[in-house]
Amino acid sequence: MTNLMKKIRHRRFKIKTNNELRFVVETSTGSRLEMTVDNLSLMGIGCWLTGTLKEEMGIQLGQIIPSSKLTTPNHEFALGRLVARSIHEDDAKNTFIGFSTVDAKVPLDGSLSIYFDHELDDSDSPFDLELSPGKFSLASFAENHSSNVDLFSKVHQFNVFMKDWRKTSKFSYMNVRKPSMGQRVSLSKVRRNGRNDYVIMGSNDYLGLASHPRVLDAAKKAVDQYGFGATGSPLTTGVSEVHMELSDYLAKLFQKEKVILFNSGYAANLGLISGLTQAQDLIVADMLSHASIQDGMQLSRATSRFFKHNDFVHFEKLLTESRDQYSGCLAITEGVFSMDGDGPQLDEFVNIAQRHKARVLVDEAHSFGVVGPTGLGTCEKFGVINQTDLIMGTFSKICGGIGGFVATSEEVANWLYFWSRAHMFSVSIPPSTAAAALEALRIFREDMTILNQLRQNIQHFKNGLASLGYRLPAQHESAVLPVVIGDEQKMEVMNKVMMDAGVFVIPIVYPAVSRTQCRFRFTVMATHTVSDLDYVLNVLELAMEKADFRFSDSVKSGAHKKAA
Ligand code: PMP
Repeated sequence: MTNLMKKIRHRRFKIKTNNELRFVVETSTGSRLEMTVDNLSLMGIGCWLTGTLKEEMGIQLGQIIPSSKLTTPNHEFALGRLVARSIHEDDAKNTFIGFSTVDAKVPLDGSLSIYFDHELDDSDSPFDLELSPGKFSLASFAENHSSNVDLFSKVHQFNVFMKDWRKTSKFSYMNVRKPSMGQRVSLSKVRRNGRNDYVIMGSNDYLGLASHPRVLDAAKKAVDQYGFGATGSPLTTGVSEVHMELSDYLAKLFQKEKVILFNSGYAANLGLISGLTQAQDLIVADMLSHASIQDGMQLSRATSRFFKHNDFVHFEKLLTESRDQYSGCLAITEGVFSMDGDGPQLDEFVNIAQRHKARVLVDEAHSFGVVGPTGLGTCEKFGVINQTDLIMGTFSKICGGIGGFVATSEEVANWLYFWSRAHMFSVSIPPSTAAAALEALRIFREDMTILNQLRQNIQHFKNGLASLGYRLPAQHESAVLPVVIGDEQKMEVMNKVMMDAGVFVIPIVYPAVSRTQCRFRFTVMATHTVSDLDYVLNVLELAMEKADFRFSDSVKSGAHKKAA
């Protein structure tokens, strides 16, 4: 028996007799999972799965798992590197799973191996392949399959791909803003009519505070007082009075003993999770957790488990099965999920975590400033601020700035000061940023009309989407409004129409989400006027006409489950 895994991982290949290729995934719990490869491409793999996998996985047939991790009690994969895209059954009752293996690593508790006889066609060199954007995506470059090549060879290939990709209207990233701020911006990208003004529908500055005159004044004043930067990390020279004022203000707001500042929300999650957990601990997180949470988990040496999105039966099952085997346990969810805009039933989550002696971390990045009676977030909404051990937030959303924070007990904060490397070994946010964030928070607390305006705008946009046939759930309250298109070609046409009409929206495509879940991620701001929003809705309708797209299409394809 040849270990073909090695060969396969080291070169791109074609299968001549493709139905003889099999995967065997062995887990340390003794389960074996056999898959016969049905078709194989550079971008993904389709596998027939044998055995009782369907039942064990608890996944319903026909279910599409969006950009997610295949996480089951017996077959669990490290940080979701083996990604299930779709599942269905054929007439002969075989379960078909569409896998993406481009970023396949090793299952958490076992090894992924490929055995059995099959022939490889060696003639296929990676350098001969046509790197067309139609055939490739970012995901194609997640793993390098060549052996003994220049480290930069993948970089070169990627650039060949990127050059073509940038020419297509699929590429809607890295748009450069000319001096402008607020809900209408100027970009260097010129529209067909020669104009370059756009209504921005993808900003995280939900409350519009990034351009508030008082915020700008506070930043300018702090520059005059402290200069450009913080000059050091928080434990050295990087803490000013304004940093202290900001963390005290936040601590009072969240009724926590301490708030510890990080230089971004990403750094906060990374530093907090990896600083708090150790090899003997367990981390259980929602499978749609933000990259910063996943990276924190990866960096910590703790064991990671993911539960199905917002599925607390699964969450509790994982805890029941594994909690006893570990020392400490951290349970993680988000107040609002960044790509879907939905949130958890947080009181239930907290109760389950507490029953199993797990400490709770809630990432309020997208909910702080939006959700809850006074906009403090999802913990406030469910009345669980006190029971939440760690509330994480960022200044990149509530005031369109930069910087992250964690509100917690004094004891935990003292630990993190010295054990969170992202905190200890990285510079503090500039004093001007701290001053601006503090002023923005004050405005937000003093003037509830801003939050009310945001809420009215969210409702207005939701109603408009409903009139176009796209119904978000009534309880959807976040400023992130994902509009799932589910058809990459049509989405490309729509994107072009919208950009050309001056609507700057961010398309989210594979591998950020699965292809059938590709979407526009509209975000609404308090400063959008009703006519801004109506204009965007009209343009969306026009784009749908031009692309011959109706939302019923995406419902039919199963891509629109949430909104249906
Ligand atoms: N958590 C979540 C849920 C996020 O969506 C983001 C970024 N969008 C972050 C953390 C990281 O925050 P920042 O961009 O401020 O670093």
